[in-house]
Amino acid sequence: MSRVHNFNAGPAALPLPALERVQAQLVDFRTEDGQGTGMSILEHSHREPPYEKVHREAMRLLRELLSVPDTHDILFMQGGARAQFAFVPMNLLHAGKSADYVVTGTWAKGALEEATIVATMQGARVRQVVSTEKDGRFARIPTKDELSFDPNAGYVHITSNNTLFGSQWSSYPDTGSVPLFADMTSDLCSRKIDVSKFGLIYAGAQKNIGPAGVTVVIVSKDLVANGRKDIPQIFQYRVMSKNESLFNTPPTFSIHVMKETLVELSKKGGIEALEAEASKKSSMIYDRLDARPDFYRGPVEKASRSKMNVVFRLPTEELEKKFLKEAEQKQLVGLKGHRSVGGVRASLYTAVPVASVEALASFMDTFATANDH
Ligand code: PMP
Repeated sequence: MSRVHNFNAGPAALPLPALERVQAQLVDFRTEDGQGTGMSILEHSHREPPYEKVHREAMRLLRELLSVPDTHDILFMQGGARAQFAFVPMNLLHAGKSADYVVTGTWAKGALEEATIVATMQGARVRQVVSTEKDGRFARIPTKDELSFDPNAGYVHITSNNTLFGSQWSSYPDTGSVPLFADMTSDLCSRKIDVSKFGLIYAGAQKNIGPAGVTVVIVSKDLVANGRKDIPQIFQYRVMSKNESLFNTPPTFSIHVMKETLVELSKKGGIEALEAEASKKSSMIYDRLDARPDFYRGPVEKASRSKMNVVFRLPTEELEKKFLKEAEQKQLVGLKGHRSVGGVRASLYTAVPVASVEALASFMDTFATANDH
């Protein structure tokens, strides 16, 4: 078997032991006591104990890893993070109210666009607090002075990590009594967070915590209880919460793989260990950019640099193509920047081994030496 160094932006690398466990049990799923069940987890009912245990264990592991307090529910939903762009205002933006959105990248913009449609349907409003877009690009997180929130807003929405442009909030804004909501699709479980400071957090699993197909929502029980009831049940956080995310058939296989991934993340030594590893891995690449600023150019302001998605450019597009081609020959794959941004992007999510990042850093040294004339 040969596995490449996978720097995909998502779906992305998963821990090998998790994949191997999934593989070993694919046709005969074993319960905790090691007993075979004679069928795959793909074939189990979502209403029977073998699957129910997987479901609950995935929730428990997530709660433990992120120290999610009892004040907050954990929901497993479908439709990806993009569905949450709509579900968040559908549930939590009440008629006559306004919500504040901070725009720091393409996904933040997408969240605002979707909320604008929903707000119009619901007799509510949305407001862009600030956008850091400049000449069609985003290179920074706003400063404190730029963040003047509406004290009567229903909530403030931010995108904690901007996957395409490679920026990340290093600390979160103080929104006073207004609940803070965050799209953490590309950095959930990579850093310690104080969940009690957030009204709601959501994340598509396919970057840091599992495969595509399941979206995690962590939401304050108070907000759930006061959520709108005049929307379809399948979209209601209340209904999902009341039914422990088993209102309808959940994406059982995705949740199973997520559970196995969370087992591996937990083994690394908790969230502090994951955070330290993310710092270590991203520093290895940023050090290369800083050592050769004339060759590797990081477009993101230093204070806003992402520890998940390291974006950089080379002196010419031709050199970028050459870099990507030679990287691939060295089994370093998934490094092409997003089609709307170009350049190179190394996604260093939780399951990307340190050894893969070392291989990339060393390739960057060799490539720069050979091509910097
Ligand atoms: N938000 C962020 C920050 C993302 O990175 C992405 C996907 N790259 C999305 C939202 C959209 O996620 P999905 O494809 O799960 O809808």
